[in-house]
Amino acid sequence: MTIAENMDRVRQNIADACARANRRLDEVTLVAVSKTHPAESVVEAAAAGAQHFGENRVEESEIKIPRVHEQVHTPVTWHMIGHIQSRKAKDVAELFQFVHSVDSLKLAARLSAARVEMGQPLDILLEINVSGEEAKDGFHAAHWDRDGQIHDALWNDVQQILALPGLHVRGLMTMAPIVEDIEMARPVFASLAALRAELAESFHHPLPDLSMGMTDDYPVAIEEGSTMVRIGRAIFGERTLQQ
Ligand SMILES: *Cc1c(COP(=O)(O)O)cnc(C)c1O
Repeated sequence: MTIAENMDRVRQNIADACARANRRLDEVTLVAVSKTHPAESVVEAAAAGAQHFGENRVEESEIKIPRVHEQVHTPVTWHMIGHIQSRKAKDVAELFQFVHSVDSLKLAARLSAARVEMGQPLDILLEINVSGEEAKDGFHAAHWDRDGQIHDALWNDVQQILALPGLHVRGLMTMAPIVEDIEMARPVFASLAALRAELAESFHHPLPDLSMGMTDDYPVAIEEGSTMVRIGRAIFGERTLQQ
C-alpha cells in the first residue's frame, strides 16, 4: 500500500465515523503522525493532501521540518504531540504551530514566555491523563468528576494557564490506554469530552478542540467528539524504531 492509498482509506474511515455520529467531515482534522519517518514520506503524504503533521521529538523535527519545506510549497501545520522537557520549550515554540502535549504549568509558562518574545501566541492543548495510568504524561484527571482533590488541582492549573499571554488554549488532548477491544477506549474519550465541557463552562472559555484517536481507536474517538485525530501507522506503516 502506498501512502496515498493509506490516506484514502483513513479519510474514508473518518467520513464513515462522522456519518455514524451525525457530524460534519470538516469538524475533524487529520494529523498525520510522521515521527521516525523521513522527510520524503512527509512530502509524499503532502502530495496526497495531508496538511497537518505530528512529530514527537525536537531533535528529529529540527532536521525534518526544513527538509520538508524545501520540497513542499503548500501550507503545512506542524503539531508537537510528544513529551517536552521544559528546557526545550523555546525550540518547540519556534518549530511548531500547535502543541498538543502541554502537561504542566511550568512548561506552559515557558512556551508562553517564548511566544510573547516572538509576538505571536501559540495554539496549545492540555494533555490530560483521564485513565489514571501511572506511567502516563498529562495532568492527572482520573475521576475528576468525583475526586475533589484531583478536580481542584486541575482547575487551579488550568486557571493559571488560561491567563498566560503567549498561549491560545484550544482544548484538550488524551491518549487512550492500549486495549484489545476499541470499545474499551470509549469511556476515556467520553470522559475527556465531558471534562472539556465542564472546563469551558467553569472558565467561560471556549475549548473547541479535542485531540483524541490514533490508528487503533480513531473511529470511536470521532464518535465521541474528537476534532483532531493523530494517525501514524495507518498512513506511514509500522515504525521501525520503538516509540
Ligand atoms: C505515535 C503517536 C501517535 C500515532 O500513533 P499510531 O498508533 O501510529 O497512529 C498519536 N499520538 C501520539 C501522542 C503519539 O506519540
